[in-house]
Amino acid sequence: MSQIRYDLFHDRYVIIAPERMQRAAFLPAAKLQQSAVCPFCEGNESLTPPEIYAIRPHGSANMPGWKTRVVPNLYKALKIEAVPGRHHEGLFEWQEGFGAHEVIIDMPRHELRMDQWSKEEFVSWILTIQERVQDLQRDFRLVYLSVFKNHGQNASATQAHPHTQIIGLPLVPKMKMAQIRHHVAYFHEHQRCIVETLQSAEIAEKSRLILQNDTFVAIAPFASGVPFEVWVTPKKKISSVTQVCETGVHALSALLKELFARLYAVLGEFDFNLSFEIPPVHRYDETEEIFHLFEETCRFGVRIAPRLTGLGGFELSTGMMINPVAPELAAEQLRNAKK
Ligand SMILES: [Zn+2]
Repeated sequence: MSQIRYDLFHDRYVIIAPERMQRAAFLPAAKLQQSAVCPFCEGNESLTPPEIYAIRPHGSANMPGWKTRVVPNLYKALKIEAVPGRHHEGLFEWQEGFGAHEVIIDMPRHELRMDQWSKEEFVSWILTIQERVQDLQRDFRLVYLSVFKNHGQNASATQAHPHTQIIGLPLVPKMKMAQIRHHVAYFHEHQRCIVETLQSAEIAEKSRLILQNDTFVAIAPFASGVPFEVWVTPKKKISSVTQVCETGVHALSALLKELFARLYAVLGEFDFNLSFEIPPVHRYDETEEIFHLFEETCRFGVRIAPRLTGLGGFELSTGMMINPVAPELAAEQLRNAKK
């Protein structure tokens, strides 16, 4: 029996429709066309723009010997050299494509699945994200940072080599802004952060709980928009990835490693998007009145969205997702996964 569920986090509705599974199988993971030489592989450093940052125990800049490496995106959506500021031409508003667009090359090894990463590789990856977020925060013109991974063709990846992207924007995307205002309103009404409320309810309820350690917990959200969606949140009040301490980075790494082992055990090869929930990093006109509340109302999180189904006309025209796998079933399979 299908259900229309209310998603308190995103303030939206989702249709959980197990009957739909009889109609369509999951999309198979789609291999990317490989170019002859991978610019992200160790030894090919000259094929990328000069590096911005690297964790490099050996060698010098733009040479082999690194663990992670950060470079400007060669095919940038936005440029830091552009001039920020809105322009109006009658009805039409536009601005130059100002912003930052970086690529974190997660590791020297090519095409490694995340369940094959060592715990140390997860640690270096998270430390690198922390470093870049901290550095980009120094630019007051960038008010919002989006940190995400696209893995596989169904997730819009164009490179098979493990990588993460950061886009820094001079504004807060409207969808994010609506979500942030909703969280602020919830906090005013209940004197409690929405994530804290949801997390403690899910831990008590247990049916959507996948795994946890002392510091982090992974759940299949009650109103998951896609099959096998996973949401990882810290148990402590931490609003951004930059506030995760060294012990926390190790705990998050251990949990993600275990989680990916279970996801691959249940799903086999699969494509996914992964994103970091980070509140706006600087105030600007649209956040001026509520910016001081973000420490209380926003909670850091990592969201993994497997791309097992496509988006149809209904989803695109309504923003309402149809998910054919009940999150209780996804959580049960992930809890019992045999690796
Ligand atoms: Zn490569």
